[in-house]
Order: sequence, then C-alpha cells, then structure tokens
Amino acid sequence: MSLHKYVLHTAKINNNCPECYSKEGLEFTFEQENFENRFYTKAKKAVIETLYCHNCNQQVFPVTWTEDIERVYDYHRKLAKPKSSVMKLKPITYIILLFDAITVGLIIYYLSNR
Ligand SMILES: [Zn+2]
Repeated sequence: MSLHKYVLHTAKINNNCPECYSKEGLEFTFEQENFENRFYTKAKKAVIETLYCHNCNQQVFPVTWTEDIERVYDYHRKLAKPKSSVMKLKPITYIILLFDAITVGLIIYYLSNR
C-alpha cells in the first residue's frame, strides 16, 4: 500500500517573488497523489498546486500572490490536466474475480445436480 505524488506540470515563471523580489526563482508545480495497493491504483481527484521560490528557498502561498502571478497561475493550471480518478484494477484482481466466479459457478452446478 503506498501513496506517491507524480508531477503533472511544472513551469518556471518570470514574475517577481513577493518575498524576495527576485525575478528568477519562481516555479509552479502541479502534482497529483496516487494511491496504490496490491489490487488497484487510484489517483486522487485533488491537484496539489505549489509555487516555490528557488531564490529564497520557500513556498510562496496564494495569500501573497500578486495579480500577475494569479494570471500566470490560471494559464498554467489549464495545462496541468489531472489524470482520471477512476479506480484501475490490477491483473491480479481480475484473476481473483475470475477465480471467484468459477468457484461460485461450480457450487451452483454442484447444488443443482444433487
Ligand atoms: Zn523568493
């Protein structure tokens, strides 16, 4: 059983950092969490959005974003297409389901022929 993040989209932007005013440090990252166990994988619906400044080495939270950053954010958010959050069964699960169906079938067959 595990939960891991995978990156959907990243973008370095040329806006000024609200914290250190550098124009070269900001980067957007859009990630999605994926839950996985032996039987299925499932992506979580929510996309995790972070704006990080590599110049002052900290996350820049939306409360401090300028209008320009928000505009750039809107643009990049559309490029970060989340994966479907539909549960995907693994082959082992199909085998188990098939095996179960055969077992049930045999029981019904056995009972109806007594
Ligand atoms: Zn900064």
